[in-house]
Amino acid sequence: MEIAIIAHDGMKADMVQFLNKHRDILIAEGITLIATGTTGSKAERAGFEVTKMLSGPMGGDAQIAARVAEGKTQMVIFFKDPLANHAHEVDINMLIRVCDVHNVPLATNYATAELLLKAISQQS
Ligand code: PGA
Repeated sequence: MEIAIIAHDGMKADMVQFLNKHRDILIAEGITLIATGTTGSKAERAGFEVTKMLSGPMGGDAQIAARVAEGKTQMVIFFKDPLANHAHEVDINMLIRVCDVHNVPLATNYATAELLLKAISQQS
């Protein structure tokens, strides 16, 4: 299963903490991680293997949306910063829409992401 991870700047520490907390599930389930560029670098520094797309504002969200549309990415964990403005808001909304079009699970906050990972571990 391929999961995309994206975190806005104010949420990147939360994402690293989330990945560390769930390292065992991610490994046990054989999860493949892809990420927007900077989020991916942070995850790599924490010891995760990640395929990095472009940085979000440079088109990384759009690349991930394309993978969702093509059926290559089965889940998206997107820690959006609800208190910040984003130059690439249209790309963010596009990714959310594509997830909805293709019925791909999308977590936009920590609590939902935890529920999704719990569901994965209970399925197996
Ligand atoms: P980043 O992109 O991981 O390259 O910072 C995230 C985003 O802003 O969408």
